[in-house]
Amino acid sequence: MQQTLSLTLEPEIALDDAVLRQHIQKTYLKTIDEDFSIRKMRQSIDARKGQVKINLEVEVYSGEIPPPAMEFRKEYADVANKPQAIIVGAGPAGMFAALRLIELGIKPILLERGKDVRARRRDLAAINKDHVVNPESNYCFGEGGAGTYSDGKLYTRSKKRGDVRRILEILVAHGSTSEILFDAHPHIGTNKLPSVVADLRESILKAGGEVHFDTKVVDFVLVNGEMKGVITADGTEITGLGVILATGHSARDIFELLYQKDILIEAKPYAMGVRIEHQQSLIDTHQYHRQERGLLPAASYSLVAQTYYKNIQRGVFSFCMCPGGFIVPAATAEGELVVNGMSPSRRDSKYANSGVVVAINEIDWQKYKHLGPLAGLQLQKDVEQKAWKLAASSKKLSDSQFAPAQRLNDFLSGKISRELLPTSYQPGLVSMDMAEVLPDIIARPLQEGVREFGKKMKGYVTNEAQLIGIESRTSSPVRIPRVKESLEHLQIKRLFPCGEGAGFAGGIVSAAMDGERCAEQLVRIYG
Ligand SMILES: Cc1cc2nc3c(=O)[nH]c(=O)nc-3n(C[C@H](O)[C@H](O)[C@H](O)COP(=O)(O)OP(=O)(O)OC[C@H]3O[C@@H](n4cnc5c(N)ncnc54)[C@H](O)[C@@H]3O)c2cc1C
Repeated sequence: MQQTLSLTLEPEIALDDAVLRQHIQKTYLKTIDEDFSIRKMRQSIDARKGQVKINLEVEVYSGEIPPPAMEFRKEYADVANKPQAIIVGAGPAGMFAALRLIELGIKPILLERGKDVRARRRDLAAINKDHVVNPESNYCFGEGGAGTYSDGKLYTRSKKRGDVRRILEILVAHGSTSEILFDAHPHIGTNKLPSVVADLRESILKAGGEVHFDTKVVDFVLVNGEMKGVITADGTEITGLGVILATGHSARDIFELLYQKDILIEAKPYAMGVRIEHQQSLIDTHQYHRQERGLLPAASYSLVAQTYYKNIQRGVFSFCMCPGGFIVPAATAEGELVVNGMSPSRRDSKYANSGVVVAINEIDWQKYKHLGPLAGLQLQKDVEQKAWKLAASSKKLSDSQFAPAQRLNDFLSGKISRELLPTSYQPGLVSMDMAEVLPDIIARPLQEGVREFGKKMKGYVTNEAQLIGIESRTSSPVRIPRVKESLEHLQIKRLFPCGEGAGFAGGIVSAAMDGERCAEQLVRIYG
């Protein structure tokens, strides 16, 4: 017999499998024997009221074997001798495009400028400990893309439930915990992501696809308005049925190459600001209305404010919150400062950090409008480079990844912090006036926005929190436009702009979904 139960329970019952089992048996299955199994279908936390509750939907099976939890089967046919298509970039978009091509009978040739997920670790250690940025292997570049050494949050605003479920099932089939299938806010964690990424690569290789690391695409093979292939840094020309360009939001050289080649690209709005770091216990206490969080996961927040600066409305919002996480140096070149956040699967660091960013629009990059579609990108570069320069020179260093920082109340009152707080940001901080580091179009709305956040969340505005800059790679500053149905570039045949760098995804799951869609369209048209 199978029955579905919708339950609202205390965390101590819902989040402990043994206790939940006892509870269900006692309350709902009095007449049934011991031999039953429970499958969680959906789990979410309701912390809106005084007492935190867990909403659960479970399926209970007694006297029968539960059906398989997933539709997806990890079975890929051999495509070694099939026609090939090229994918540039092994982020979530590129890797999922490769797997989908295999399912559709095409051999993927996946080209990645960075290193495999294991070798990449050494470069991350170098930027954290020695302040050395490898422009080909860093938090944004390398196998698994920007999503590998991240929080691994898997929620997306996409309403395509079936497609989202499919991506989650593929991740589970490649080693991710099955909790992501029922958790309303699933995440994997930076300690678990690398093995999932390596397993995705194994599936591609086993099926006869190719994956090439340290292989940077530097030019395109364009013939009569068709993208026939690409040229890599060592001069190799690789051709195929089409090219899925999934190079992410930080591949500035690719945007420049497209522009030089007269391939249509557009400047696109994005957001910039800082990360704000609090003690996780402060966020837990506010969100859960109690001192100890017990079995509950590290709490997160999502805040938005509308502000006005020079009569222009500007949204300020929290972005990519990492509860129980770390702030990391995410620059992709020397001479720039970029921070981002990641967290382990247990989210058990004592810090909570979140991007707090201001919407950036066309009006802000007028100064660079002679650069056409690269104007917004230039503004982003300038902000990152100025922050780097100020921080390095204040440390009297010619190069460093020290990040400018300021305690929150000091930022609001325009005072340089005499002493900064301990931080999760490993390279170290420099006390600076962030209103000097950031342009006014960001600093002023940020001040107003943070004050508004403080009204919504008691304790948020405190000198026990600090701003750390610069959070600038929120989304791509450039869009590579494509035809809505075919997903092919507006002008260039056989070119499929894909994922976050093309402006069609924001996050791991949406990038993976876009990768699958681009593969499907490439095969439909040219396969
Ligand atoms: C530290 C950090 C934490 C994050 N946390 C989360 C999170 O918790 N949840 C979430 O949903 N999102 C998170 N994100 C964002 C997420 O990682 C991206 O949205 C996602 O990875 C975009 O996928 P993509 O495949 O489109 O591009 P990317 O992941 O950026 O991948 C692009 C790939 O292309 C390669 N490439 C670039 N140029 C070339 C070239 N010329 N030749 C060959 N290869 C090239 C790059 O090396 C890179 O590997 C985080 C990002 C960072 C940096």
